[in-house]
Amino acid sequence: MILRAKYVIQNDRTFIEDGAVILCGSIIQKVGRYTEIRDLTPTKVIDLGSAVIMPGLINTHTHLELTHHKNLVNHYISFTDWLLQIITKSNSQDNQQINQAISDGIHLTLAGGATTIGNIHSAESGLKKLKYSQIRKVVFLETLGFSPHVFANESARINKRLESLQNDDLFTIAVTPHAPYSTSTKLYRHCTDIAKSKRLNLSTHIAETREEIEFLKHGTGKLTELLNILDIPLDTWTPPKVTPIKYLKEQGVLDIQPLLAHCNYLTNDDIDILAKSGSSVAFCPRSHQYFHHTNHPIARLISAGVNVSIGTDSLASNRSLSMLDELKFLANNYEELSSEMLISLFTINGAKSLKLKGIGKLEKNWQADLIVIGISDDQRPVFEQVCDQNSENLMTIVAGTICYKHKTIEI
Ligand SMILES: [Zn+2]
Repeated sequence: MILRAKYVIQNDRTFIEDGAVILCGSIIQKVGRYTEIRDLTPTKVIDLGSAVIMPGLINTHTHLELTHHKNLVNHYISFTDWLLQIITKSNSQDNQQINQAISDGIHLTLAGGATTIGNIHSAESGLKKLKYSQIRKVVFLETLGFSPHVFANESARINKRLESLQNDDLFTIAVTPHAPYSTSTKLYRHCTDIAKSKRLNLSTHIAETREEIEFLKHGTGKLTELLNILDIPLDTWTPPKVTPIKYLKEQGVLDIQPLLAHCNYLTNDDIDILAKSGSSVAFCPRSHQYFHHTNHPIARLISAGVNVSIGTDSLASNRSLSMLDELKFLANNYEELSSEMLISLFTINGAKSLKLKGIGKLEKNWQADLIVIGISDDQRPVFEQVCDQNSENLMTIVAGTICYKHKTIEI
C-alpha cells in the first residue's frame, strides 16, 4: 500500500511536501516525495489529499480499566476524596465491565490518534483483552500495599502475574509500584529488583500532589488520614523526610531509568537528579488541569535534558482519551513549547519513555505505526497546522493494520 498526502512529517524536524509512504506488511518500506516513490511498486495508491501523514502519537500514561469512570467525580474537592471514589467504583466493577472498559478505551485511544500506549493495569481480569488488542502497548502491572504485613502475598502475586505473560510484537509487559503513599519501601525495592533482573520497564506515580510531599516529609496530612480511613496501619513507618524524587533515588529506583508519571512538584535539585539518572517523565496536561495543580515544570525539565513524554491519564480525570486533543491543549496553554517540540513529546520521546525501538518516526524498516491528520490547509508551517484546534485524526494504522478510519475516508 502507498499512502500519499500533501505532507509527510517524518520526525520532529523533517517533513516532505507531496509525500508518500510505502507500507510492506507491518513495516515501512520507504518514505519520500510521491514523484520518487510512485513507480517503485505497483501497489495501490491511497491519495489522502490535504492531510498530513505522521508518526502515531504515543500515550505514555493511561488507565484503560477506568474508561467507565468518566464523570464519576462531578465536583472535584480533593485528591484524597477523588482517590476514595475511584477505589470504591473500581472495586465494584465485574470482569465483564472491566473488559468492556478496556475495549472502549482502546477504541477511543485509536480514534484520538495514538498508536501506542503505556497502560497501567491493576485489575485481575482484562489482561487478555489488552494483550490481543490491535494497539501497541506496554502494560505496567500495578502493585500496591503499604502495610509490611501484605508484602509477602503481594510480591508473590506480582511475580506470578509477570511470569504468566509473554511479550509479543504489540505487547510488552512491565511493572508499576503505584505511589509512595500506597506502596511500601520494601515493595518498591522488590519491583526494582525484578525490573532489573528481567529487564522490564518500571513506572510509578510520583511527586503528584502537595499531600504526597507532606506525607513523605512529615508523615502528616490528608494521605495519612486516607490510610487511616482504609485501616492501613502506619505504626511501623517513619517518614523518610525527603522529596519524592530523593526517596526514589534512595531506594535505587532511579538506577533503572524508570518512567515517572506526573512529576508536578519538583525542586531544582529533583530536576538535576532526574536529568542525571536518565529517567523519563510522563506529563498528563489535562489531568494536571483537572486537579488544579500549579504550573507544571515541563519547560525546566526539558531544558535540563530530561526525556518528557505525554499521557492522557484516565477518563476519571480527563475529558477524552484523545492524544490529538491533548496536543491541541498543550499548543493552546503552553506557548513556550514550539510545535516541533510538541511533536517530539508526543512521538519519539514517548518511544524512549516506553523503551520501545522502531516507533516514533517514519523511517525505512521502522514499524508502520502512523496516523493521518486532516488539516485546514493554510500558509502556516505544517507542524503548526497539526497542532491547530481544527485538525482531525482521519486514520490510525498500527503495524500496517488500519485500526481506525474516519467516516469520510473511503478505501
Ligand atoms: Zn495514573
